[in-house]
Amino acid sequence: MKVLVINCGSSSLKYQLLDMEDEKVIAKGLAERIGIEGARVKYEKIGDEEIVIEKPMENHKVAIDIVLNTIQDPEHGAVKSLDEIGAIGHRVVHGGEAFAESVLINDEVLKAIKDNVEIAPLHNPPNIMGIEAVTELMPNTPQVACFDTAFHQTIPAENYIYALPYEYYENHKIRRYGFHGTSHQYVTERASDILGIDLDKINLVTCHLGNGASITAVKNGKSNDTTMGFTPLEGLIMGTRCGDIDPAIIPFLMEKENLSADEVNNVMNKKSGVLGISGVSSDFRDLDQAAAEGNERAQLALDAFESRVVKSIGAYLTQLDHCDGIVFTAGVGENSIETRAHIAQKLASLGVTLDEEKNNVRGKEAIFSGEDSSIRLLVIPTNEELKIAQETERLTQN
Ligand code: ADP
Repeated sequence: MKVLVINCGSSSLKYQLLDMEDEKVIAKGLAERIGIEGARVKYEKIGDEEIVIEKPMENHKVAIDIVLNTIQDPEHGAVKSLDEIGAIGHRVVHGGEAFAESVLINDEVLKAIKDNVEIAPLHNPPNIMGIEAVTELMPNTPQVACFDTAFHQTIPAENYIYALPYEYYENHKIRRYGFHGTSHQYVTERASDILGIDLDKINLVTCHLGNGASITAVKNGKSNDTTMGFTPLEGLIMGTRCGDIDPAIIPFLMEKENLSADEVNNVMNKKSGVLGISGVSSDFRDLDQAAAEGNERAQLALDAFESRVVKSIGAYLTQLDHCDGIVFTAGVGENSIETRAHIAQKLASLGVTLDEEKNNVRGKEAIFSGEDSSIRLLVIPTNEELKIAQETERLTQN
């Protein structure tokens, strides 16, 4: 069975076509600048050169139409006809409390996803556009929704409730939801395989460190707590997001800088994080370079990022009666040898040791703790698209 995985952002659309016989990607690409000038679709049939189609795309439906036509193009295509695609899997950001698992999309499911727009106004609308476009263009192909929040629905109330008046939870659904769930779940399952520990017995701290970053305490294979909250803003210091701050700073800043709620939200999401501290970049490679050249604020941003990661790992270890491994994934976690080394060094008081040679990997699965380490350290490259494709196959096979 071939599965097309679609991940719609506000002005972009990432896609991968996978052959589930061997779980290999056969084509992939990206539509960018949807709805704005300079729109283009990048397409790569694996093994061939990437092609770029520059064409105005007024909305996601036009983008998906171009993607589908390219995938079945007689010259560059990866399939002879769209009939070969057995199902479509969509990444959907917010499933709220309605979805603890991936689900086959029908009218009722679509309505529930729409109901969550209220708590995910930036994220769910493009996902919905993607689903509706595919429904029009491929009406007979089953579609599955995989939610970033689903894996975290096992978090117990004591860890998801905020200490606000309880009626805000009841009336406005304000609670911790957590995000990056597909990634945390994928690396948890891989760690279970790699370490040879049953999924329902494995305890981990999984660190998804990319542009967006979150850490999850995994207890018996299930999410027990995670650093992101009601939105993906809470928790770690990220590329451009502030993560945890004293909430009293928000009204203070609104008054001092004369900012509206929208403006302060924009500052916290787009102008903060390591970019805000350093004034250099949100990209960790730029920060590494600037710090190496003596830029003190770039160094401060990196130190603050690592310090917050270590604090969260420490906090989550207290939730687990033992820990089978600390897993590093996503752009920084998979690729930054230095960041992993610094984090391991900062965990030395817990008996964690590092094998520098084994840590010398980028983007490959590895166990990089020292022989005598109290907790194993692992690098596991995430693969959210594969997880979505697996879920899509599972739910549509019959
Ligand atoms: P997202 O999916 O959240 O956009 P990614 O998981 O792709 O993010 O991570 C992107 C981040 O990974 C960027 O900030 C980039 O700097 C960082 N990154 C990629 N490669 C390296 C590397 N070799 N060293 C340090 N950071 C890296």
